[in-house]
Amino acid sequence: MAKNSASDGSNARWENQEVDTRLVTLGRDPARFDGFVNTPVVRGSTVLSPTVADLEGHTGRYSYGRRGNPTLEGIEAALAALDGGTGVVLTPSGLSACSLALLSCLRAGDHLLMTDSVYQPTRRVCATVLKGFGIETTFYDPLVGGGIAALLRPNTGAIFMESPGSQSFEMQDVPAIVAVAKAHGVTTLIDNTWATPLYYRPHEQGVDLAIQAGTKYLGGHSDLNLGVISANEALWPRLKAMHGDLGITVAPEDAFLAARGLRTLKVRLERHQSSALTIASWLAGRPEVLKVLHPALPSDPGHAIWRRDFSGASGLFSIILKPVPKAGVDALLDSLKLFGLGYSWGGFESLAIPFDCASYRTATAWAPGGPGVRLHIGLEDPEDLIADLTQGFAALQAAC
Ligand SMILES: *Cc1c(COP(=O)(O)O)cnc(C)c1O
Repeated sequence: MAKNSASDGSNARWENQEVDTRLVTLGRDPARFDGFVNTPVVRGSTVLSPTVADLEGHTGRYSYGRRGNPTLEGIEAALAALDGGTGVVLTPSGLSACSLALLSCLRAGDHLLMTDSVYQPTRRVCATVLKGFGIETTFYDPLVGGGIAALLRPNTGAIFMESPGSQSFEMQDVPAIVAVAKAHGVTTLIDNTWATPLYYRPHEQGVDLAIQAGTKYLGGHSDLNLGVISANEALWPRLKAMHGDLGITVAPEDAFLAARGLRTLKVRLERHQSSALTIASWLAGRPEVLKVLHPALPSDPGHAIWRRDFSGASGLFSIILKPVPKAGVDALLDSLKLFGLGYSWGGFESLAIPFDCASYRTATAWAPGGPGVRLHIGLEDPEDLIADLTQGFAALQAAC
């Protein structure tokens, strides 16, 4: 496993022991809550002040539920520390985190460069919300690297990255893109949902806004929708203001679930990682599989970048099957007992979906040579998952 912490002094504090410990201690203050280990769910809009002077002088720690709440504050502080940014805001979903982050750094007349490998609903934000506000988007090849300079316009306000790409798993050369952006005063954003700040640290590579769908690994139990945006010092005031002005807040119950997920994030990710690598390697040797799209496999075209920039891999990857009729792919997926058919990922359970990026890409062609299946490897025993896939391949063969 790559360990960028060994070669990069800035990551030294993320050596295993310390991050493990921080995941347990961050954002908790039992003494403040009569010794209860977890910060309780505090519900509330109104916060009372003892006197008019206190009310008008905002002397209390809190002034109004939407503006701050002990449950939210704890997890926000913990996530800000993990991301290594200046501050974090929470939003009701991963998608709203993407859209809010974009709204916070763009204005009418601006031009946005968006990776063609982005999570598909984020594309819609460009085509609907941003377009309606007079912001034009150009989609770019995720492998463009420093070549992004040729796509800049005088009014380019932001470059949005996602690495690895949704479904297709291209690794982006973030430092090369950030170098160009910085030279031209352009804001950079990244959707870091796949790696989480445990396995990739965007701010350390100069990215301004780092986004996570907390829905995925932070929640970890398929029972939460949540978005997280972490900003560096330069972008924090604008992000905080936009979040406050739009009146965005999340339910304390959801913040509580995120805090609960945080405590076990590292042990879960380690298991997702190792099982996914076991299964990806096994799949690479299957006669039905044309290729495996997983950046932690040495055969992957993005492996060198992954090794250079990331310290781990999560449990999500794709396979491209050798050409088979749709009936064969459907038979494989329908026969699976442990892999559920469903969107989202990051929970304890394994999932599988068919996909075809050709249906929505605009800047790059998607012709991988066969049908795509995306797998999320959960916390089940990997040998049981391999047995499930083995019988699935038998069903595929029988249907063709
Ligand atoms: C799931 C996902 C999102 C959106 O999260 P929701 O909570 O479902 O809105 C955003 N980006 C990526 C990469 C995702 O996988």
